[in-house]
Formats: sequence, C-alpha cells, structure tokens
Amino acid sequence: MSCVSDSSSLNKALRQQYLSLPQGPFCQVTYIWIDGSGEGLRNKTRTMESEPKSVADLPEWTFDGSSTGQSEGHNSDMLLIPVRMFRDPFLLDPNKLVLCEVLKHTREPAVVLLESNHRNKCNKVMEKVKGLQPWFGMEQEYTLLGVDGHPYGWPRLGFPKPQGLYYCSVGADRAFGRDIVDCHYKACLYAGIKITGTNAEVMPSQWEYQVGPCEGIEVADHLWMSRFVLHRVCEDFGVVATLDPKPMVGDWNGAGCHINVSTASMREEEGIEHIEKAIEKLSRRHEEHIRVYDPHGGEDNKRRLTGRHETSSIHDFSAGVANRGASIRIPRQVGQEKCGYFEDRRPAANCDPYAVTCEMAVTCMLDDVHE
Ligand code: ADP
Ligand code: MN
Ligand code: MN
Ligand code: MN
Repeated sequence: MSCVSDSSSLNKALRQQYLSLPQGPFCQVTYIWIDGSGEGLRNKTRTMESEPKSVADLPEWTFDGSSTGQSEGHNSDMLLIPVRMFRDPFLLDPNKLVLCEVLKHTREPAVVLLESNHRNKCNKVMEKVKGLQPWFGMEQEYTLLGVDGHPYGWPRLGFPKPQGLYYCSVGADRAFGRDIVDCHYKACLYAGIKITGTNAEVMPSQWEYQVGPCEGIEVADHLWMSRFVLHRVCEDFGVVATLDPKPMVGDWNGAGCHINVSTASMREEEGIEHIEKAIEKLSRRHEEHIRVYDPHGGEDNKRRLTGRHETSSIHDFSAGVANRGASIRIPRQVGQEKCGYFEDRRPAANCDPYAVTCEMAVTCMLDDVHE
C-alpha cells in the first residue's frame, strides 16, 4: 500500500476547471457535526437559494443517526441545529461551513453511546460565568500518518533519529509535512477561525497550532471547526491527522491539547491570587478532570500522562511556575508580572473542548459568580 491515498493523486487541474464555474445565486452550505464516538466529525452539504448572512438564516436539518452511533431504537432521524457559521476555504465564497449541535427528535441533546453533545451543557455553564469574562486558549497537537497508519516521513524500517532536533525545526531531514501545516493555517484564517500560531513538535511528524484566546463557548466551536479543516486539508494531500494522545509507544512524546485559562480578575493587577485560588480548587478535583480530559474517561490519557516526555503522572496533581512536568503550569512571565493566565497540560489531543472548558468553568468559576 502506498503511503498517500489514491484520491490525492487525481488530476487537480481538472478539478479546478469545475470549481471555477460560476454558481449563480446559489450557495453551498456544509453542515458539520460530532458523531457518536465523541471524536469523529461528519458532514453533508446542501444548496441554498441565496447566501445566508448568519446562522439565523440556516434551516435545521436531519441525518441518519443509526450510521453515526447516535440513534436510539427506531427513531434514527437526528436533528442538526446550526450554531456557528464560517467561510468555506475549500469551495470558497460565498459558500459556508456550519458547525451544528445534534439533538434527538424530542429536541433533547444526543446522548447515545457517548455523550457526544457536550456543547449544550457547556453553553449553559458559560452563560452563568459570563460576568467573569472567561478566556480560553487551546493548543492542539496532532500527528501526521500515511493512509497505511505509519507516521508520515518515518523510515519504513527502523526509526528516525531520537527526539531533540524536531521541535520548531526547519529542514527536509527534520520537518515532515509542512505543506499541510501551512495550508491548514491559511484555510483557518480564511474561514474566520481564531487560529493564533503553529509550531513543529518534539516528535517527528507531530505539529501544534493554537486557537484563542476566545471568550466562553467560542474557543471550543473554533477548535472543532479547525479540526474539520485539518482533516479536510489532509484528505486533499492524501495523508491522515490523528489526535491519538500517544500514537507511538516508546521514547516519543504524546499529543496533548493544553488549555490556557483566565478570568478578568486574573488578568488584572495582582491577579496571581485568583490564579492560585483556581489551582487550589483544581487540586481537589483531579480525578473528575481526568475523566473528561479524553473521550474514554481517562483511558486514552493513561498512555500519555506517564510523568515522562513533558507530562505529569495521571495519578498526581501538581502545579508550578514554568514547570512543563506539572499538571498546571504558570508561565514564567505570568509569575513575574503577577497576573495573566494559567495552563492545564492534562487534556489529551482528542479531548472534547466543550467538556474540558465546561469542567474548568465548573471547578474554577461557578462559585465566584455571585461574589
Ligand atoms: P506554550 O507552548 O508555551 O504552552 P503557546 O504559545 O503554544 O504556549 O500557547 C499559549 C496559549 O495561551 C495560546 O493558545 C493563547 O491563546 C493562550 N493565552 C494567552 N493569553 C491568555 C489569557 N490571558 N487567557 C487565556 N489564554 C491565553
Ligand atoms: Mn504550545
Ligand atoms: Mn506543544
Ligand atoms: Mn502549552
């Protein structure tokens, strides 16, 4: 089997001829949702007679939940509720990508197999803590694989040189797959996703990008859409992006999704006191957080949070200034300026950002609302 897909070698010049045909008044709108695995994304496209100006212009739609692990018994029609609209970087203006929530026909959130609709609850919590002006920034790490599952650019036999030269690297012998990174970055900017940076990671073929800071529910919406764009760009190139938190066993770093958090009072002078208070609250709910920091209740993160490779042990809670081996890190600059934000390094790359930001707000913010 070749390492890139067959469809990636179709004639792209021919494709361009059709893509540049005028499309009249019509608009192609791609509805995107999280499936029953809590990790996978699904999408389907419909024609609208004119360009929608906001999500309010978008009709609800349905799909067959029995094919996505989301249906219950004989009622397999699930509802797609548009929640956030982006420009489509693949079919271009005026076409749209639309992130949707999934509801049952009774209009309750879909909860089959796994609680795949965490957005519903997250949104309610974010509404409650709105007054604290919570900001979140997330760092999405991922690993490129060939369609055969072998890490992209790794030798067929044996291993690449040990870690040390790959992080933030440049050069054909150490930065593998930058085309994908560059195209994903541009596509996110075009779409209107708040992507704020990117870098090559410690393991070869592993990369990171950052989203945010955004206020409230926004970061998770934008992160999910950035993941869709990533998978879609990779499809064009014929390779696969995996969010597995420990794709390679052995002396190779895993992949996380660090979450950076602040409230208005943490960002103000002497805000460090509020940061320390939040860390104290987090220390009392370590197990609860581990349960929602990957889609399998901690099972995926077990392979990653070993206490080695810039991680803390899954069994212990720890915090420290500039400490990348702790659960919670206070960035050095924040320690010096005595205000800013903190970083929780525990979430796995395949976490659901709705579940993670929601838990963070529940633990650190809910009881401050009426102060
Ligand atoms: P590192 O790799 O050193 O942890 P990055 O630059 O990759 O740092 O990520 C820093 C993250 O912190 C970004 O996602 C950014 O959006 C976020 N961030 C910066 N300031 C704040 C803040 N005040 N509140 C919440 N998040 C923040
Ligand atoms: Mn980072
Ligand atoms: Mn990183
Ligand atoms: Mn980080």
